[in-house]
Amino acid sequence: MCEKDTFMREAIDLSLDNIDHGGGPFGAVIVKDGKIIARGANRVTASNDPTAHAEVNAIREAARVLGTFDLRGCEIYTSCEPCPMCLGAIYWAHLDKVYYGNTKADAKAIGFDDSFIYDELALPLEKRHLKIVSLMRDQAIKAFEKWDNKSDKIEY
Ligand SMILES: [Zn+2]
Repeated sequence: MCEKDTFMREAIDLSLDNIDHGGGPFGAVIVKDGKIIARGANRVTASNDPTAHAEVNAIREAARVLGTFDLRGCEIYTSCEPCPMCLGAIYWAHLDKVYYGNTKADAKAIGFDDSFIYDELALPLEKRHLKIVSLMRDQAIKAFEKWDNKSDKIEY
């Protein structure tokens, strides 16, 4: 087994074990310099947290372990192709690469369908099922102006 297979094996084992521990069939690990530095499993129903996907949990753990919000130089191995939320988190974390096991079509086949989110994202705001309404922009912009003028901000 090559190194990549070993890391994916760990993500898959997490996905299998998680089913026996109150979670969904999803696992992920984050690797830096050839070592696993963080693990995550799906805990949505176990912790009543709709954002507790394996990848997000692994990212939170990796950031905690490394003491940084920037995970450049790390790669994520996930047992399933990331959903739009996790993909967004992966971009925000600046991970270098994603390896996945199951496809999103495999996930859809057992009832984990995120294709409606991908479909929604492709539509203009007014055509989406989720109503998104702009409100008080003239007030909200004040925080952006304050941030823009802050000289010692930590950019990310
Ligand atoms: Zn996800």
